[in-house]
Amino acid sequence: MIKVECNGEVLEFPNEISANEVIKKTYGKKSGAVAALVNNEQKDLSYLLNESCRVELIREDSNEGLYIMRHSCAHLLAQAVTELFPNAKPTIGPPIDDGFYYDFFMDPINEDDLRRIEKLMKKIVKQNLPIQRQEHSNETLRKMFSDNSFKMEIMDDKIGQEVGSSTYKQGNFVDLCRGPHVESTSKLRWFRLTNTSQAFWRADSSRETLVRIYGMCYSSKEDLQNREKLLREAAKRDHRKLGKDLQLFHIDEMVGQGLVLWTPRGTIIRNELQQFISEHLIRQGYQQIYTPHIGKLDLYRTSGHFPYYQDSQYPPIIKRDTLHKLSDENCTCGDLSNLMSEGEIDGYMLKPMNCPHHIRVYASQPRSYRDLPLRLAEFGTVYRWEQSGEISGMTRVRGFTQDDAHLFVTENQIEQELLGCIELVKVIFGTLGMKDYRVRIGLRDSDSDKYVGSPEKWNTAEEACRNAAATLGVEFSEEPGEAAFYGPKIDFVVKDVLGREWQLGTVQVDYNLPERFDLTYVGSDGEKHRPVMIHRAPFGSMERFCGVLIEHFNGMFPTWLSPTQVHILTISEKHKEYAERIAQTLRDLALRVEVDSGDDTIGKKLRTHRKMRPAYIMILGDDEQNNETVSFMGPDREQNTGILLEKFTSDITVEIKSKS
Ligand SMILES: [Zn+2]
Ligand SMILES: [Zn+2]
Repeated sequence: MIKVECNGEVLEFPNEISANEVIKKTYGKKSGAVAALVNNEQKDLSYLLNESCRVELIREDSNEGLYIMRHSCAHLLAQAVTELFPNAKPTIGPPIDDGFYYDFFMDPINEDDLRRIEKLMKKIVKQNLPIQRQEHSNETLRKMFSDNSFKMEIMDDKIGQEVGSSTYKQGNFVDLCRGPHVESTSKLRWFRLTNTSQAFWRADSSRETLVRIYGMCYSSKEDLQNREKLLREAAKRDHRKLGKDLQLFHIDEMVGQGLVLWTPRGTIIRNELQQFISEHLIRQGYQQIYTPHIGKLDLYRTSGHFPYYQDSQYPPIIKRDTLHKLSDENCTCGDLSNLMSEGEIDGYMLKPMNCPHHIRVYASQPRSYRDLPLRLAEFGTVYRWEQSGEISGMTRVRGFTQDDAHLFVTENQIEQELLGCIELVKVIFGTLGMKDYRVRIGLRDSDSDKYVGSPEKWNTAEEACRNAAATLGVEFSEEPGEAAFYGPKIDFVVKDVLGREWQLGTVQVDYNLPERFDLTYVGSDGEKHRPVMIHRAPFGSMERFCGVLIEHFNGMFPTWLSPTQVHILTISEKHKEYAERIAQTLRDLALRVEVDSGDDTIGKKLRTHRKMRPAYIMILGDDEQNNETVSFMGPDREQNTGILLEKFTSDITVEIKSKS
């Protein structure tokens, strides 16, 4: 007799029975189940229960259920791809938020191929093929996948572990997989393939190049349509498109991939943001500094950035005479790289981080406890070698300016200073109307010994992070194992108007760099002590943050950030002088103004200027000129007629000052 607990009731069965039968008995045929939870483990619906246990259903619209459907969709994709492209080798295909992807070793494909694959997937769905789990010995598995070196490599890694002994089969397609999956292909109706990109096997650029195909998958038509609508809206707001239309930035192949040229209009936004932060830096007792864009290799050897992270950095700059000497000695690239790693020859590097420079500023004079906390801030530009496939607009670039700062503090100043950092983030997000954000606290993994600093210090710092995060009054999650080896951190994840999440600023406690650079201060006891460092960048980088802001505001910036705040359009030639006079009055108040007194019709002028999304569009004609008034449309684009100029200027000045 098997006793099965389901939905709080205990059912008895004489023989083994599938999880699905139990769920159907309890919840009826239309339970919406895609899989089962048997004693808290995810299983296929067909899983046979042969001993007493607890069973629950996993609904298609739950997070777990959606992941299972998306994972099943990845298999469906692989089945279609291997049917259409028999030489394609499937590698891995996990579910992700909103959908799934699968990486194939194959020639690149185009949009037409993508639609063909999608069409075949739909056909397979209609065929209602059962998706069957099979258990195999390692030996059989190796035979089954002998023509796919990627799957073989996965097995090599996993042999001796519990996984790797099952496959899932649908039609002629078999994949090495742990499952669980939906029962049959007909369960997967609401999906769509979205795009392809390049990927590398094992995310390693020295390994095989793969084609990654992305798709989305939902449990209902409505959810899929909502998602498609959102994507269309997102495409309209794409900062790469808007950045071009609104002339905010330019990326030029001749200058280099991932290197952002800030055009005049974008520069205004960046300057306003920097000015805004600078005001708060003064309020919080920071000191601003400038440091060079390069530094000696030795500096980064001490900090640990070289040679360990050299793959993500521009290659070093070597002195000319050293290079000549080495080439005379027939030195190969490999030799050169070894010599550099070992410190045999020196050179310079574009800085990947501002920290080492700031540390040398700290160390430039003897420090006492009275100097602490020392808060050094810099809008510091750094350079990283992102893979070309990962470069995108302003959000993934190879050179960017961090709104960076390093705080050198004593052990018991950590909490107070973290609070200050958090306060700044709160002000920034509040001002920019990014009300929906969450906070992640990266803590150490208590089982690991990779961490620098004593457990007592870590306890204090982690507690300080928690306390600081709690003051924000927003949701925060603690994530054990997510801390860097050198200290706990606080991350900010912002949700934009479309509900998309962006990881922006970070506050990071650091016990490591003060150690590596042997930083000290003299305490009140007259002894030398080690300071603790806090790295913090609330925006992350100016480039990324502006990219996010362009999309967040849909290019319609609040008046204080607007590249041009007032566009003045004249109705006819005879209002030109009046328009110029108004413009000068506004410019005298430091407003950014553009005048169009050309001979286009007012309708045409309006269409042209609306496209640039200025905060205010002013229209001047006979009535305005005769009465010394202005007529305008504000950010809400409502028409205001016959307003006295003083009223307009005082209102807009207040609006800009309050950053509302
Ligand atoms: Zn799978
Ligand atoms: Zn830093």
